[in-house]
Amino acid sequence: MLRIVLAGAELDGFAIDAPASSVRMLIPPVGADEIVMPEWTGNQFELPNGDRAPIRTFTPRYFDEQRLELTLDIVLHDHGAASDWARNAEVHDEVAISGPGRSETLDPEATSHLLAGDESAIPAIGQLLEAIPTDHTMEVHVEISGPDARIELPEHGGADVNWLVADPDSSPGDAMVAAVVALDDLPDAVWVAGEAAAVQRLRKHLFDERGRSRSSVTARGYWKHGRSAT
Ligand SMILES: Cc1cc2nc3c(=O)[nH]c(=O)nc-3n(C[C@H](O)[C@H](O)[C@H](O)COP(=O)(O)OP(=O)(O)OC[C@H]3O[C@@H](n4cnc5c(N)ncnc54)[C@H](O)[C@@H]3O)c2cc1C
Repeated sequence: MLRIVLAGAELDGFAIDAPASSVRMLIPPVGADEIVMPEWTGNQFELPNGDRAPIRTFTPRYFDEQRLELTLDIVLHDHGAASDWARNAEVHDEVAISGPGRSETLDPEATSHLLAGDESAIPAIGQLLEAIPTDHTMEVHVEISGPDARIELPEHGGADVNWLVADPDSSPGDAMVAAVVALDDLPDAVWVAGEAAAVQRLRKHLFDERGRSRSSVTARGYWKHGRSAT
């Protein structure tokens, strides 16, 4: 995970009103010295050379209104436009962002919460830990690729945080899915995010096997194993 701080007068008016919202980032090619803006063709954002523009989604982790600084925490995985860009980014490099987009509305009735996610969900989980009242209880399961991927999460008096180191031979999300399936009792509200197929397995488990109501579960596929985001 690499922390990237974006700054600029263009961020004036940006605001994070609720946890787990998103921004879309147009990724410039590594080494490019200027941003080329794409055009919407009716079905995709296209660059002047006809290529689909690499646009990726991230959680706006913090926004400093005074300094106009937006912090993103980006997972450095094997390869990918965003991951490669972040790995090679230098001070004063430029990117374009839009947003913020949809955020989570917390169920006002829920007083116990389950949060489960992989590394891509750590920024959103951090925001949820900050947003959920401290007299609520929270069970948190975070699947990480190795012990080094563990980062400091915000303190929450009612949270029990479990770091699950993934078996390198397993499919993404296996450890997170197993942790949720193993729970005897589920909290009032469930929030899960991470690799899309794993999230889909959890959705199925929660609705079909646990009989959870749609309104008590938020399940978001953040990325697809073996496929670039579009
Ligand atoms: C609402 C929302 C919020 C998100 N917030 C964050 C965030 O704060 N931080 C963050 O890092 N990601 C976040 N993501 C996920 C991020 O958008 C994807 O991981 C994205 O695919 C990364 O783009 P890329 O160009 O690096 O890789 P891509 O070009 O999309 O993919 C290239 C290859 O890498 C694999 N891949 C993609 N992402 C991952 C990953 N995380 N781990 C392992 N392999 C991967 C793909 O399966 C593919 O094989 C969020 C997604 C959503 C929808």
